[in-house]
Amino acid sequence: MSEPAASRFHARFDKALGAYLGLAIGDALGATVEFMRPREILLQYGTHRDIVGGGWLKLARGQVTDDTTMSLALGEALLAGGTEGITRLRDGQDDALVRRIGEAYVAWWRAGPVDCGNTCRRGIQRFLQNGSLSGPPNDGDGGNGAAMRNLPVALATLGDHAAFETLSLAQARLTHHHPLSDAATLGLGELLRGLIAGHDHAALCRRIERWVADEPAFRHTPYRGRATAYVVDTVQTVLHFVSAHDDFEDAVVATVNQGDDADTTGALVGMLAGARCGASRLPWRWVSRLQPATLRAITDQTSGLLALADQLTGVPHG
Ligand code: MN
Ligand code: MN
Repeated sequence: MSEPAASRFHARFDKALGAYLGLAIGDALGATVEFMRPREILLQYGTHRDIVGGGWLKLARGQVTDDTTMSLALGEALLAGGTEGITRLRDGQDDALVRRIGEAYVAWWRAGPVDCGNTCRRGIQRFLQNGSLSGPPNDGDGGNGAAMRNLPVALATLGDHAAFETLSLAQARLTHHHPLSDAATLGLGELLRGLIAGHDHAALCRRIERWVADEPAFRHTPYRGRATAYVVDTVQTVLHFVSAHDDFEDAVVATVNQGDDADTTGALVGMLAGARCGASRLPWRWVSRLQPATLRAITDQTSGLLALADQLTGVPHG
């Protein structure tokens, strides 16, 4: 590998790993205050800024929830399906990869996850009963559960936009069939891909401005202060805090202290802010609090998914 190619390779790995670890950090930090109101958080924790577990799920310190573990299940399925699975789906040859992802969600669910959203549960049960890869469009499917777990798709398809779109929507619709869920899944994935390609804070803010001009439902200015699991509230919260704070820690702390679906808004802000700063600049007191198995799974998947993207786009190594 030539020197510029090697430094691009390392920069990309650092940003991709920063995104995945940032997702887990935001999840672990936010889960403690999930479903609380900002005032309740203030009374109980002051400003909540330490990964301590607890919360309504009674988590162990450093434990993550469905936001991270469903992403890991999706990532595993992508690695098992390989480039062939992705290209065959992208080119309309077959949807074996989507079945594989559905099976991975079933296995995840049967293993007894610490939490599981209602729409995710319904979609997984539907797949289990009749192998259906998507429900009909449903007004009730506007939750954030499909958008929260799409990070592995964004990594595995870097450099192949058609594959990114097809695979993002396919994994999303296993559980969520709603135009705003689709738009959030694609839009957040696009922001992430831009950051991994090297966008700085100013470039991110310009991309966000363009996105909300196209998709006014997600306009976050003025911020309404709603951080529920409805995907519109989630995206507005994520866009507000990631554009208001250039610093990873500031962005994630401000997000989770907004409460409500704090693990998911925290995870998505952590994902974007982590890609922006890279893994090497994440606060060590948070990285080191994640459980070793989570750290290892995330690190392994990040290299595997980036290698998949390189195979997909035919980037030579060595
Ligand atoms: Mn969760
Ligand atoms: Mn949540």
